[in-house]
Amino acid sequence: MNFTESEERVALRKAVAELGAAYGHEYYLKQARSGGHTDELWDEAGRLGYLGVSVPEEYGGGGAGIGDLAAVCEEFCAAGTPMLLMVVSPAICATVIARYGTQEQKERWLPGFATGEVRMSFAITEPDAGSNSHKITTTARRDGSDWVLGGRKVYISGVDEADAVLVVGRTEDARTGKLKPALFIVPTDAPGVEYSRIEMDLVSADSQFSLFLDDVRLPGDALVGSEDAAIAQLFAGLNPERIMGASFSVGVARYALDKGVRYAKERSVWGAPIGTHQGLAHPLAQVKIEVELAKLMAQKAAALYDSGDDFGAGEAANMAKYAGAEAAVHAVDQSVQVHGGNGMASEYGLGTLLGAVRVGRIAPVSREMVLNFVAQHSLGLPKSY
Ligand SMILES: Cc1cc2nc3c(=O)[nH]c(=O)nc-3n(C[C@H](O)[C@H](O)[C@H](O)COP(=O)(O)OP(=O)(O)OC[C@H]3O[C@@H](n4cnc5c(N)ncnc54)[C@H](O)[C@@H]3O)c2cc1C
Repeated sequence: MNFTESEERVALRKAVAELGAAYGHEYYLKQARSGGHTDELWDEAGRLGYLGVSVPEEYGGGGAGIGDLAAVCEEFCAAGTPMLLMVVSPAICATVIARYGTQEQKERWLPGFATGEVRMSFAITEPDAGSNSHKITTTARRDGSDWVLGGRKVYISGVDEADAVLVVGRTEDARTGKLKPALFIVPTDAPGVEYSRIEMDLVSADSQFSLFLDDVRLPGDALVGSEDAAIAQLFAGLNPERIMGASFSVGVARYALDKGVRYAKERSVWGAPIGTHQGLAHPLAQVKIEVELAKLMAQKAAALYDSGDDFGAGEAANMAKYAGAEAAVHAVDQSVQVHGGNGMASEYGLGTLLGAVRVGRIAPVSREMVLNFVAQHSLGLPKSY
């Protein structure tokens, strides 16, 4: 067992942190507040190979694992430049296509993922299904060699920035007539695809959308991989999503903690820095412990996933996602507290994170669904729902 990251990953973290710092949180907020995106940063990160670190080398990527991609995501977040699409585009979509796509699909999409030029959203959530993805009703039927897809998705991140959406739908089993999951690559400009922005109380450079699929005609090769392997494909994407979600939260937590600690060392109202008071120092120390534990679990999940242990990775990825979200919520809350009134002033770049970190408890999988998983699978308790 080794608890030290490789020299390559340490160097990667440093380079990404420098790029993130060159843009900084002010750039991020300016883009978010004006309804813009982080295109300049995304494109530069893509050109430098940071977004494609886990794409196989033969398609122009770095050939590394999800652990490296998660490190990239964490460092951008820790620099105050969180890019939500990293959790879906390179982590879920590129991974699923690299592992399960046909040769043609790999050749069509992976080189673009390697450079960041391709962006793909991921759509599983539906208004009437929510956490219960067994209830999704987006359905594809065969029409000659084509597929015709219909349904509705909600809270889909970054559809306006994406070339295509990886849609989780269902197809009818020819033998049993039962509906089974299937993944489709749906170009955002395909006839019948419409999307509308959901007004959110979040200051984010990536928006959420309702996605309407109205008899969208897709070629036969829009189906990812095989019709019978969709469950495995889905899990291949959901573990990286959770690992990335954890690293995203850990990065934001680090950003907030750094700010809080710096302020606690500088600000003085009783003749000594406020960090002298244990009432502030201890909660910051607790947050530091929570962040390190969450990071360690995310690294374990990534190491298991990269070693091919999908099942083992599932438990660790869920735990890491949970721990990361909690650490981020506590880190931002405590950092705001340390800043006193300044914690809520725009100039200090913390107040907007109060809502943002809350998302980590809801998406990509809610805190309660993680607890259900752990209760059932790790503890062997009866299923409660
Ligand atoms: C900013 C943001 C970005 C998102 N991006 C995407 C995206 O790109 N693609 C995508 O597909 N989705 C995305 N989502 C959706 C997200 O994954 C869902 O919101 C999440 O899975 C919860 O589903 P829901 O909102 O329908 O809540 P519901 O399923 O309605 O749950 C409501 C509450 O009930 C609890 N609950 C539900 N079932 C149980 C149970 N059995 N036991 C205990 N508690 C339960 C939940 O934990 C939650 O607290 C995003 C959401 C947000 C907020």
